[in-house]
Amino acid sequence: MIIIPEGAVSSLIGFRRCVDAVEQVFASMAKGTAKNLPVVREEIGHADAIFGVKSGFDRAAKVLGLKAGGFWPANIEQGLTNHQSSVFLFDPDTGKCRAMVGGNLLTAMRTAAASAISIKYLARKDAKVLGMIGAGHQSTYQMRAAIEFGQFERVVGWNIQAEQLSRLAIVASDMGLPFEAVERDTLGAQADVIITITSSFEPLLNAAQVRPGTHISCMGTDTRGKQEVDADLVVTASVFTDEIEQAVTIGECQHAFNQGRLDRSRITALGAVIVGDHQGRSTADEITLFDGTGIALQDLAVASVVVEEAIRRGVAVEVDF
Ligand code: NAD
Repeated sequence: MIIIPEGAVSSLIGFRRCVDAVEQVFASMAKGTAKNLPVVREEIGHADAIFGVKSGFDRAAKVLGLKAGGFWPANIEQGLTNHQSSVFLFDPDTGKCRAMVGGNLLTAMRTAAASAISIKYLARKDAKVLGMIGAGHQSTYQMRAAIEFGQFERVVGWNIQAEQLSRLAIVASDMGLPFEAVERDTLGAQADVIITITSSFEPLLNAAQVRPGTHISCMGTDTRGKQEVDADLVVTASVFTDEIEQAVTIGECQHAFNQGRLDRSRITALGAVIVGDHQGRSTADEITLFDGTGIALQDLAVASVVVEEAIRRGVAVEVDF
């Protein structure tokens, strides 16, 4: 079995390969050759932790595995990240465990990759202003990937704790773009693309605040009850997602869906756009919304790239298992 510790992951993969791997697996889902298996996510009654297991199989790429981990709120006091995860890959021919890979950085990168892919396929080609809502751990990855793969000239940002925005200002400056902290009305009035990446349980943006033609990547809502944008905005938009079933249960779509204002037939898998079965954005005035809920196949795809790269470079640590 190959072991790739968390600390080795960053040297083995960059955003380019993450984006390619996630795009490929979204396409495989649309073609019916890859599927996620039912998700387990439970409070364990210890350390206020939530533990979950997400798994799936990409038959075309022969990638089978799971990501296990969750949220430990007190970790920060020990200098650890609150979100902890590990990915396990199995040989689909024999079931033998093939690899164990640290999943923390990969989670941030594959989530940012999904958002960047949605921007690539759904945002207007002349999008110049990026709006960021949220300035926590994931936000800098989201922003880096969006800037790396977009044509942005400026970034505006809002966060409930304004002092955290300095994090985004540093990334913007690092990437050669001006950054301005603004109120949400201004953000909606100026941004061509908006990424929401918070752990909010109430809407932070409503339909009246968003201009026609905007693309919104809603990336923070991954649990029942969380919400980043108003249900009216979801209903107004053309809605895309990584996986429809997750979108209506744990994603941003859950609220409009539960109110009976959005049914599954109005939500399109992003994979369908990637393989050309759906045109994606159809007019310059349309609001497009990507509900990125986070699926196992994304984790497995990027972990598999890391393992192959470690083998290729001869740095894979192998143990008899
Ligand atoms: P974090 O704790 O580092 O940051 C949380 C962010 O949300 C901060 O900007 C904070 O100010 C903001 N926030 C918290 N409560 C808020 C409220 N009530 N109203 C407005 N803003 C609020 O978390 P993170 O690691 O950056 O993750 C952000 C979110 O993304 C979480 O909800 C996490 O579960 C989710 N996530 C989603 C995926 C996915 O695949 N879609 C993957 C990883 C994380």
